[in-house]
Amino acid sequence: MNAHASIPLAPARSDAELGRDLITVTTRAPIVFVDGQGSWLTDADGKRHLDLVQGWAVNSLGHSPAVVAQALARQSQRLVNPGPAFHNQPMRDLAARLVALSCFDRVWFGSSGAEVNEAAVKLARRWGQRHRGGAHEVISFDGAFHGRTLAMMAACGKPGWDRVFAPMPAGFEKARYNDIASVERAITPASVAVMIELVQGEAGVQLADPGFVRELRALATERQLLLIADEVQTGIGRCGRAFAHELYDIEPDVMTLAKGIGGGVPLAALLGKEPFNCFAPGDQGGTFGGNPLMAAVGLAVVETVCQDDFLAQVRERAAHLARGLQAIVHDHGLVAERGAGLLRALVLPTDTGPQVVAAAQALSPVGLLLNAPRPHLLRLMPALTITRDEIDQGLQLLRQALRAGMA
Ligand SMILES: *Cc1c(COP(=O)(O)O)cnc(C)c1O
Repeated sequence: MNAHASIPLAPARSDAELGRDLITVTTRAPIVFVDGQGSWLTDADGKRHLDLVQGWAVNSLGHSPAVVAQALARQSQRLVNPGPAFHNQPMRDLAARLVALSCFDRVWFGSSGAEVNEAAVKLARRWGQRHRGGAHEVISFDGAFHGRTLAMMAACGKPGWDRVFAPMPAGFEKARYNDIASVERAITPASVAVMIELVQGEAGVQLADPGFVRELRALATERQLLLIADEVQTGIGRCGRAFAHELYDIEPDVMTLAKGIGGGVPLAALLGKEPFNCFAPGDQGGTFGGNPLMAAVGLAVVETVCQDDFLAQVRERAAHLARGLQAIVHDHGLVAERGAGLLRALVLPTDTGPQVVAAAQALSPVGLLLNAPRPHLLRLMPALTITRDEIDQGLQLLRQALRAGMA
């Protein structure tokens, strides 16, 4: 008998059937996952899938890593949530670790990327009230993704997103990515901050140019704008360094983290330098912010990932993956391969990304999980712990999926 036979599923399952009790927000692949270990997921039929998505880059150490399980078990037996109005030791320890690892002096914890990005905007507006005569506008970029709250949808640069839930919160201006003149044009006396993903993830792994980032840092300093780096997707080892801004040799004023820092659990952080430690008591908070259960997990993840030899291994695996992807670009007539660390993309010659994703999922006996953030793009964000053998196996499966999906 199948180990998961207790899960009753009709033989022919559709998203509509499986999601009968859920509010419809998206179309899900008709798969029910029941088990995950490292780079592998097992579905309710017992089929295994090599996972190169990892919950959109959240499972930095893969599925069900022992350090996360241990941290959860230990902390859940000790103290889960005394409430955000009190100190707790895991929160203090994680904040101290992040401050020691980074150029920042202060940390606030939340539970999602959108939440800490919104907190960053509030911090910038508070700073603008105190030091810039009420300046409040935030400049963000075409193609940017900062989350799905109303204010973050206004900060996003996804075409059309400013109309879906109108009226939108005001105070968000757009500039063009990698175009410093467009940033200069967007600045007004009311501008208070520039918010940027150094690698735009949802836009298809678009990398900021090093020259543009240096100019942006200088411009922000000159015009007294906070530089906010949204490292929700790029932070905590994803790009081969603790933080992606290290690749650019600049220091933002404020940084946000989520996704990878929790190793799969909901944990996010807002980090800032001391001059921007300007919230008044009560300005910012959240029932779950800094709870010791999630903080203990975050500490275990950060202690594991942000070690020199672990990060060197991420860079070595990333180089191996990049070489394999370049060979695929050559052999399958694709347009390009690009990325930073283990956040990589393949550019396809046609809009067949969704078909390739579906073909990869349907491969048998082993499926492959990929993501197509744009119709002509495939994104790969494997566990930082993926092995060379698993990368090689993934590349073989990817070749099969490209043959089936692009046919
Ligand atoms: C995923 C993501 C967010 C939103 O994070 P949530 O936890 O889904 O709210 C924000 N910014 C970037 C760059 C992201 O990749």
